[in-house]
Amino acid sequence: MIRLLNTPSRCGAFFVLVALLFDSSLFGDEGQQSHAPKRPNILFLFTDDHAYQAISCYGSVLNQTPNIDRLAAAGMRFDRCLVTNSICGPSRAVILSGKYSHLNGFRQNGDRFDGSQVTFPKLLQEVGYQTALFGKWHLESEPTGFDQWMVLPDQGQYYNPKFLVPGGETTIEGYCTEIITERSLQWLERERDQEKPFLLMVQHKAPHREWMPGPKQLNLYRDVTFPEPETLFDDYANRASVLKENQMEIARHMRPGEDLKLWRPDDQSKAAENFFRRMTPSQRHAWNDAYSPDNARYFARQLEGREQTRYFYQRYLQDYLRCIAAVDESIGELLNYLDKRGLAENTLVVYSSDQGFYLGEHGWYDKRWAFEQSLRTPLVVRWPGVVPPGRSNSELVSNLDFAPTFLSAAGVAPPVEMQGKPLQPLLRGEPAPADWRQSFYYRYYELGTHNVAAHEAVVTADHKLIHYTARLNNERKREAINEWDLIDLRLDPNELRSFYTAPSHAEIRTRLEQELQRLRVELKAD
Ligand code: CA
Repeated sequence: MIRLLNTPSRCGAFFVLVALLFDSSLFGDEGQQSHAPKRPNILFLFTDDHAYQAISCYGSVLNQTPNIDRLAAAGMRFDRCLVTNSICGPSRAVILSGKYSHLNGFRQNGDRFDGSQVTFPKLLQEVGYQTALFGKWHLESEPTGFDQWMVLPDQGQYYNPKFLVPGGETTIEGYCTEIITERSLQWLERERDQEKPFLLMVQHKAPHREWMPGPKQLNLYRDVTFPEPETLFDDYANRASVLKENQMEIARHMRPGEDLKLWRPDDQSKAAENFFRRMTPSQRHAWNDAYSPDNARYFARQLEGREQTRYFYQRYLQDYLRCIAAVDESIGELLNYLDKRGLAENTLVVYSSDQGFYLGEHGWYDKRWAFEQSLRTPLVVRWPGVVPPGRSNSELVSNLDFAPTFLSAAGVAPPVEMQGKPLQPLLRGEPAPADWRQSFYYRYYELGTHNVAAHEAVVTADHKLIHYTARLNNERKREAINEWDLIDLRLDPNELRSFYTAPSHAEIRTRLEQELQRLRVELKAD
């Protein structure tokens, strides 16, 4: 606590007050306090749709991510970080507010975030942090709580993107991932007040659909054949009927042009024109050089059925993983900067994504469902002096916990309305506190895109009870439904079968139904 009081801050008096009110155990025992004496800087490295299956420290069989691994080697990898609502805008709203969608008001993409509500960046500003956000935002309203920001409008563009800035907009030539990185480095080096701790949120568009690689990665993985997931040809049997209604299958729903880059050289369509319209002639030239030979071979082969699906899967992964290679390189540049400026020791670095993603599991791309690949999101935390190096953790943690964690790190008691918990006890490598969550409530609202049913779920270490509540009918109108799946992750890790009506699972089903009801009440779910 003595070190805390010495923290240089213009809001010193306020900070001392919060620090005194606040449970000093969040900073660890006496011995650990001495290693984390100052309020840490917070570097939040964030991507859009990055599957844990495509991160080597998570055991990827697809690619290498040496810079995310570098964070994990010096910090902690969370193996069961769950999102409350597996889609872009809602996840971001949860992270900022520390509250579920039904309380922060942002349930589905297209909603507008109420920027007047309490968010962790605002609270950090109040105690003297300098805050900046660069990259994808996707919350419709203007960012609040940031001293400096530059955000992509809506989904943004990979090539020569337009950005919104305070009071206007700007277009920057180049590749989106590199531009966001350079803007972040510029702020760190030249724009921030070096006397204050900082919060910097670096939020990439990558690797979101349409998975457009940057000029430097166009030829990566050209001759690689990726292993296929066991469930690439899932037939959606033995689970709720709404699974079959999905429109996110590699086999049936990918667009050959935009998604798979299978453009014919003479394609004069509006779709092709739109796809390439932002590129400069030299960017277009490099792109054509990279893709044309493979495309010519594809069109000559006239693949069908499973053979075609397998080819689509390979093409999808090539581009997806190329986008990630640029993200990993960006992370390396930022970590190198922290090292070079002596900032690494006092900076809490987080790597995460807005949700997970299907890389062919269940035959899918995209996200939304309560199955593992999209429910889980990567979370790697490096915090020298607090997090012992090279650890992993399999407790149920969530993107709800990010805001309380960052606030606690800064010595601010999280507001009671926030529904997550500070991760500090886990980060210190201690056993989970006795009251740590043993079950987790999930809720997905959006109907329409990809035709995924609305659902809620209760998730534990070994089971999931999923309740499908609404679908779109043939007239594309909302229709209430009442379908249930009970997943047993121990017996069926690929989530191919529901045990909802199995006598063997009657007892666990009852317990999960009760738990679902308890969580709805506790979390004020509507
Ligand atoms: Ca996303």
